[in-house]
Amino acid sequence: MTAHTSIAIGIKTADCVPILMVDTENCVIAAVHAGWKGTALALAARVVKVLGERYGTRPEHLIAAVGPAIGPCCYEVDETVIRAMADQKNSLTLCAGGRKGRWMLDLVSANRFQLMRAGIPEDGIAVANICTSCRRDLFFSHRGEEGLTGRQLSFIMMVTSQSQASEEKNILTDEFHSV
Ligand SMILES: [Zn+2]
Repeated sequence: MTAHTSIAIGIKTADCVPILMVDTENCVIAAVHAGWKGTALALAARVVKVLGERYGTRPEHLIAAVGPAIGPCCYEVDETVIRAMADQKNSLTLCAGGRKGRWMLDLVSANRFQLMRAGIPEDGIAVANICTSCRRDLFFSHRGEEGLTGRQLSFIMMVTSQSQASEEKNILTDEFHSV
């Protein structure tokens, strides 16, 4: 996360959920990488909390974009993953998988729910709703390509007017936080 302009922050994913956020009131941006472990830890909601602590962000002023990730159509998980999600039961969308002891997990919905529970208004959350495994013509998919794949980059950057830009250059070297 950063409050600086002209610095792009991003994450590389290939099935995990990329989440980008902007605090429109305090001008702060954040990027979150939520795979199943990050989702189990409610990382997206934690970032909302940290934004509040560090920058005074109020969730109602956040806009979030949830990028392309593996969908419940393709994301079969076993008991280990489901057990890790125990704390997130309320936000989970699960269907029985094709095999015994397997479930189809909807990581995107779980993260969307966590963001809403953290206080971001429903209409402040945009979801791409594109499955990276179904759309391998457009995206890299770790699952879909059995581990041998690239990564897509999701990034966010604040831009500023020309006069502000020269001022910003002088302070670029200090604090650059990442979560
Ligand atoms: Zn799919």
